[in-house]
Amino acid sequence: MGENIYHARLMFARPFIDSLEFAKNGKELCGEISLIDLPRLSDMLINSEGSLTYRVIGSQEGDSHKLEITLNGKCNLRCQRCLEELPYPLDISAHLQLLTAEMLEEIEDEGSIEDAIEASRHLDVLELIEDEVLLNLPFAPRHPEGTCAAPIKDLRQKDNPFAILAALKKQ
Ligand SMILES: [Zn+2]
Repeated sequence: MGENIYHARLMFARPFIDSLEFAKNGKELCGEISLIDLPRLSDMLINSEGSLTYRVIGSQEGDSHKLEITLNGKCNLRCQRCLEELPYPLDISAHLQLLTAEMLEEIEDEGSIEDAIEASRHLDVLELIEDEVLLNLPFAPRHPEGTCAAPIKDLRQKDNPFAILAALKKQ
């Protein structure tokens, strides 16, 4: 292993890999990213606090080339019920097969396999990580039932049918 391990220092360089070469040689890349460096993810969060550690390991079995991605960290989503902060753990592991564009197209036509990406000589590792995180976020995050921090304040004034009735009677 030894020399095949790179620690990416993102303050200096955004990591790119030659994905097939990376897989063939069983390389490994790990590091830490601030969530603020993942803009598409940041858009989904209540704030960009926190960071994510990642590890990408390449492997080859016969003709098949893979990247194994492990992500750990947490982010703060917005609860869709109370709109307050919802801490959400990110513990993700994914195995992605590297395919040529033609192979990928064939598979897409068959409507199968989401765990494949196009092999690239200049694969943007952060982009890949961000895609994986986005795929793993809940569609409508909510605190568990009954644990929302703030009660829904507006209900009484605006949407309560009795309040609306009372207003109508006054007319
Ligand atoms: Zn809530």
